[in-house]
Amino acid sequence: MAKTIFEARRWASLFLEENNRETNVGMLLLQHHMGMSRAQLLAESRSELPEETWSQFQKDIEKHAETGVPVQHLIGSEEFFGRTFNVNNHVLIPRPETEELVLGVINRLRQKERPLRGVDIGTGSGIIAITLALEIEGLSTHATDLSIDALNVARENARQLDADVHFSRGDFLESLMEHNEKMDLIVSNPPYIPERDRESLEDVVEKYDPDMALFADDNGLAAYKKIMKQVPQVANEGALLAFEIGHDQGEAVSNIIKDTYPQSEPQVEKDINGKDRMIFAWI
Ligand code: GLN
Repeated sequence: MAKTIFEARRWASLFLEENNRETNVGMLLLQHHMGMSRAQLLAESRSELPEETWSQFQKDIEKHAETGVPVQHLIGSEEFFGRTFNVNNHVLIPRPETEELVLGVINRLRQKERPLRGVDIGTGSGIIAITLALEIEGLSTHATDLSIDALNVARENARQLDADVHFSRGDFLESLMEHNEKMDLIVSNPPYIPERDRESLEDVVEKYDPDMALFADDNGLAAYKKIMKQVPQVANEGALLAFEIGHDQGEAVSNIIKDTYPQSEPQVEKDINGKDRMIFAWI
């Protein structure tokens, strides 16, 4: 018997609740499978689902209930800064905290004269680079990643969103150093979780994120140290550094920046949850 949108939602909601999962996942998956907004689904609650859609929807709900696989992986996309980005298991799922990092960059670069050149290190799905390229007029945007699979996702996102980003493969800033490129902005959400915290991670999304996007040696500081070794070869004078950081890494990362740029005054800022989450420094 064909199911209506209403019946499908009710089935999913009850099934998810029984399995102690968030019930809003049903709505998100239905939006995806029907290609409809929430409002449309509500307005058309008596319409029937095509047989094929109903069975795919059921499979996804059951898979989520059983394994906890994040809805972003089932749908293959996530929203970031008002746009939809493709994601898969080769990239970190975009987090809302990173929107705050991007906003911090946009606000600071407002006062600067154009043209400007910027790079996003370890771009993953490309969210930071693509958003900056689209939001900041006159910013020539570069993005690097070590993972070819991640770069494929980022390139496709840039194509779909019509963003002009120069992607290159390399370890942190290496590909820019090879071409003697100079930047006015260096931004990154690098891996920063200490390896020893792996077991205690509760966020289920992290179980599906690539390790190389999450974990770093040296108490989670290895990436910042590596980046700061390369920065002097790439940064123009007066460039802006902007990094996402772990909640307890403000002081350590500030010191890493000051080791290379003693006169800089790194600013640590909190995310919406009141945790230290980003650091900005003019160098
Ligand atoms: N904010 C991410 C998390 O804790 C970590 C991302 C990162 O290491 N850059 O899930």
